[in-house]
Amino acid sequence: MSVLIFIDLVDGQVKKAAHEALTYGAKLAAQMGTTAEGVVLGSEVSSDLGELGAHGVAKIHQVSGDGFKEGDAQVFAKVVADVAEATGADVVVFSNNTSGKAIAPRVAVRLKAGLVSGAVALPETDGSFLVRKNVFSGKAFAKVSVKTAKKVIALNVNSFTIENGDGKAEVVPFRAEVPTSKIKVIGSNKTTGKVSLTEAEVVVSAGRGMKGPENWGIVEDLATALDAALACSRPVADAHWRPHNEHVGQTGVAIAPNLYVAVGISGAIQHLAGVNRSKVIVVINKDPEAPFFKAADYGIVGDVFEVLPKFTEAVKKVKGVA
Ligand SMILES: Cc1cc2nc3c(=O)[nH]c(=O)nc-3n(C[C@H](O)[C@H](O)[C@H](O)COP(=O)(O)OP(=O)(O)OC[C@H]3O[C@@H](n4cnc5c(N)ncnc54)[C@H](O)[C@@H]3O)c2cc1C
Repeated sequence: MSVLIFIDLVDGQVKKAAHEALTYGAKLAAQMGTTAEGVVLGSEVSSDLGELGAHGVAKIHQVSGDGFKEGDAQVFAKVVADVAEATGADVVVFSNNTSGKAIAPRVAVRLKAGLVSGAVALPETDGSFLVRKNVFSGKAFAKVSVKTAKKVIALNVNSFTIENGDGKAEVVPFRAEVPTSKIKVIGSNKTTGKVSLTEAEVVVSAGRGMKGPENWGIVEDLATALDAALACSRPVADAHWRPHNEHVGQTGVAIAPNLYVAVGISGAIQHLAGVNRSKVIVVINKDPEAPFFKAADYGIVGDVFEVLPKFTEAVKKVKGVA
């Protein structure tokens, strides 16, 4: 009996979301009176895996090999399920990010486990297994009772605080049969943003209120001053003012940064669906009736072309870079 946590990598580095999942899994294991272990797939790991013990995991199983290069969720799921079975894990924890969404349900099928995706808190484990999760695009919560012996949980990004102690994890190789991927990647386009949108603590996002792509300089200036990732509303991406990977919302990327600054965006329900889990929302809009103000923690009614440069200057001053 143990809790197994999937450790997600980007360019060989452990993702922030994986640190959250590790902290969550370790706390769940402590609550259940068992141990937490991690699993990492692939040979190209540049992070020090032993240091992940600081989150409370005792052991990390590393499955090496080139078989994970294609990023095939079916291959990942087969191997994670094998590790879960071999280690006797009762609960497998993922981050509910792009890879978690692709792998967790497949692992659940293989383990005949109940799946909760979008968990936001530790389960209640007093004689039951009740997991709190987001529903209706973050507008409400539901408590889901998982009754299967094995359980898979996908934790919403940025819903659990990372904790660090002074533990060290034992890193052990795990020999698994890695199936050949049925997918052949023939090319890839890497996003070139300085800060990854889904991992970003701060996001500056702009909409049609910017009038055209030629005006994005002042948005980028604020993003640079705040060390933020850039995002945009859907019509902006549809009009090719900005690349589609920046489009957030119901049909775009769902994010939950600590700070979301929305500039010249009306706040349509489909936009809010992807950003309303942000911890603090700041809205800049010239229309005081813009729906986004209802979801905002702070609002500035004004013309972006006047407000934004002053905002950026103020941020630089506070940061001492003016
Ligand atoms: C099925 C479906 C899915 C969708 N999915 C998404 C999605 O994932 N993401 C998404 O974003 N949208 C999505 N949409 C579109 C959504 O309904 C809205 O149309 C869209 O979000 C509006 O984008 P916007 O706020 O940039 O533009 P607008 O609605 O045109 O709003 C522009 C805002 O800028 C303000 N403004 C204008 N000039 C200035 C100025 N000088 N200074 C300050 N403020 C100014 C205006 O007051 C206005 O509030 C979807 C729609 C559908 C039907």
